[in-house]
Amino acid sequence: MGGGNLTNQEINEERMASSLTLFEKCQAVAHNLWWSWHPDVIAMFRDLNPQHWRELGHNPIALLREFNEESFMKRVDEMVLGSRINYAFRRMNQYMEARTEWSSKNVGVLGSKPVAYFSLEFGIHESVPIYSGGLGILAGDHVKSASGLGVPLVAVGLFYDQGYFKQYLDASGWQQEEYNRTNIEDLPLEPVMDKDGKRLIVRIDLENGAIFARAWHLQVGRVNMYLLDCDLPENAPDDRTLTSRLYGGDSRTRIRQEMVVGIGGVRVLRALGIHPGVFHLNEGHCAFATLEVVRCRMEDDGISFDEAVRQVAQQTCFTTHTPVPAGHDRFSPSLIGEHLSPLQRQLGIDFHQLMAMGRERVNDDQEYFCMTVLGLKLSRHANAVSCLHGIISRRMWSSLWPSRSETEVPIGHITNGVHVPSWLAWQMQTLFDRYFAPNWIDEHWNSEVWQDVYKIDPGELWETHVSLKTLMMDFIRRRVERQAARRNEQETVSLNPAALTIGFARRFATYKRATLLMRDIDKLAALCDDPKRPVQFVFAGKAHPADEPGKRFIQQINNLRKDPRFKDRFIFVEDYDICVARHLVQGVDVWLNNPRRPLEASGTSGQKALLNGVLNCSILDGWWAEAYNGSNGFGIGLGTAHANTEIGDDRDAKSLMNVLENEVIPLYYNRDIDGLPHLWIRRMMNSLATMAWRFSAQRMVSDYVHYSYLPAAGGVTCDMNFRQ
Ligand SMILES: *Cc1c(COP(=O)(O)O)cnc(C)c1O
Repeated sequence: MGGGNLTNQEINEERMASSLTLFEKCQAVAHNLWWSWHPDVIAMFRDLNPQHWRELGHNPIALLREFNEESFMKRVDEMVLGSRINYAFRRMNQYMEARTEWSSKNVGVLGSKPVAYFSLEFGIHESVPIYSGGLGILAGDHVKSASGLGVPLVAVGLFYDQGYFKQYLDASGWQQEEYNRTNIEDLPLEPVMDKDGKRLIVRIDLENGAIFARAWHLQVGRVNMYLLDCDLPENAPDDRTLTSRLYGGDSRTRIRQEMVVGIGGVRVLRALGIHPGVFHLNEGHCAFATLEVVRCRMEDDGISFDEAVRQVAQQTCFTTHTPVPAGHDRFSPSLIGEHLSPLQRQLGIDFHQLMAMGRERVNDDQEYFCMTVLGLKLSRHANAVSCLHGIISRRMWSSLWPSRSETEVPIGHITNGVHVPSWLAWQMQTLFDRYFAPNWIDEHWNSEVWQDVYKIDPGELWETHVSLKTLMMDFIRRRVERQAARRNEQETVSLNPAALTIGFARRFATYKRATLLMRDIDKLAALCDDPKRPVQFVFAGKAHPADEPGKRFIQQINNLRKDPRFKDRFIFVEDYDICVARHLVQGVDVWLNNPRRPLEASGTSGQKALLNGVLNCSILDGWWAEAYNGSNGFGIGLGTAHANTEIGDDRDAKSLMNVLENEVIPLYYNRDIDGLPHLWIRRMMNSLATMAWRFSAQRMVSDYVHYSYLPAAGGVTCDMNFRQ
């Protein structure tokens, strides 16, 4: 950099920065998860020790702990890493200082009063295991995109020292769960201190006793994230492990976790002097936050309970994520009494009034307290996560608005999206860089950017895809060998790089019907076994530890490999996580999704796949119901859902087989003299051009700002319900 062009501020920064050693700069970069969506920075860490990088689960802090200043410098010299480290450090600091043009134009009143985003899980990177699946990944992508756009937002969640379980299958194909303790020293967590420099601890009173929680700070780009945990000597022994596991324990564990994230979370923000203008509840889990904010308002402003509720609801945004009834937390009246009575008394209301806030039928003393109902009642800005899910949610919760017709129920929708820099393979990004406008990535949620897809040379697009497919197959081979070694088997897999490869990876909840394909097993065998046009499948996904039917699905899929007709045609990759997801969505040819409509609220893995030129083949549910246009992928089950699930499943299975046999396979194997599947490549381009911008989390967060946050902050009023 020529010094003559630097501003004073830059010169100062440079001076400060140069007082740090390269080792310290590298540490600093490792402590801001900004690195996790920058491929060149990831490559920089990897080059320090590629084998350990992989073995340590892509954790830069753990990797750097293997070095001292001297051994580090030796490696840096060997690999000529010095200027890459300087460059990464510099770019990170510039990013942290910069105010985006988008935010200067769009965030308005949020500038002085940030959004507080509450979620029980956050999926940011595989090395920070505080997520289980789609909900968490969405929260992570939301935070990263808020950082990218420059939306003032703080995130609040829990720190689980054992996270969600690691999955492996035993010799019979049955899922086993293993919990490992994460070493806090290996994570970019900083203890949060109070004004006096002591560890910040918040106390939550129960009817008998109290729970104490401390907070950790995590830097995710420009977003400050605060994670609470309960591993404190002040707590009763049982409560010390309260936050050990995500979705572990019973409903008593769950209500306590939800009090810690909601009530404890609000208290941490207050103790830090953060005064949010908007509260965003990602799913009902965090809805107790609203009650604590109401309590604070009454205390601070001397206003009545009713007035405080009115004000807080005006400032609260609520996102509901599932039409599956079991997906909504419900707590018994006695559990609520045991836990919330102190808060109820402070709110100056009686127990019946408290219960009414979580009840659909306020006078039904038997009804449990539902967190989604609380979220809906205490927020003026509620949304579902896709257009179809909006319709279903308005129907599902219409009893809460008895005087309104179903279409007037105030639940809008903002369709989910994914964080493009996190999910787009760098090889694809490099290809797009050559054909798209400069800096296209900074405006990737603008539809016009993607029209340039049609300029890409079809052969190059295909070659890039094939190279990603090869990398995925290497990854799968390594994984499967490791899995087999663990079972004392010597299994090898030889996937065929020329075969049509279909991926299916998600939670093994039964409504997602992972085994739908297997309803006509002979037909499936015939498709897989066709020597001229072979098909192979890659599966991954965890079942909830208590979900026996889900585990049976995994077993059925996994055991297909023992049937000679499916040898090397059905692969189950264990321990689905962000790392496995990234490899699969970047490397398969087709991404399959066949949920029971309309139970998939949105789904996001297909959005990750499409960014990488993978074609979706899906039931018209969730996001796909609004994305599919006939030429940008494949649609299954074009009819509506059937009330009888058996009949519906049968019909969808037939439709799926038809689409595979008559559309997907012929299109894939229709090659020109150069061996290119021209019509397929055309469809990849259509898919990118029509959807990559729409299903970006940057578009999603920008919609939240306009349709939810700004109205909640009392800025412009724009009613999301007009978006139906
Ligand atoms: C994206 C993702 C999910 C969610 O996928 P769906 O299609 O919404 O089911 C779950 N788990 C992981 C690890 C993911 O990356």
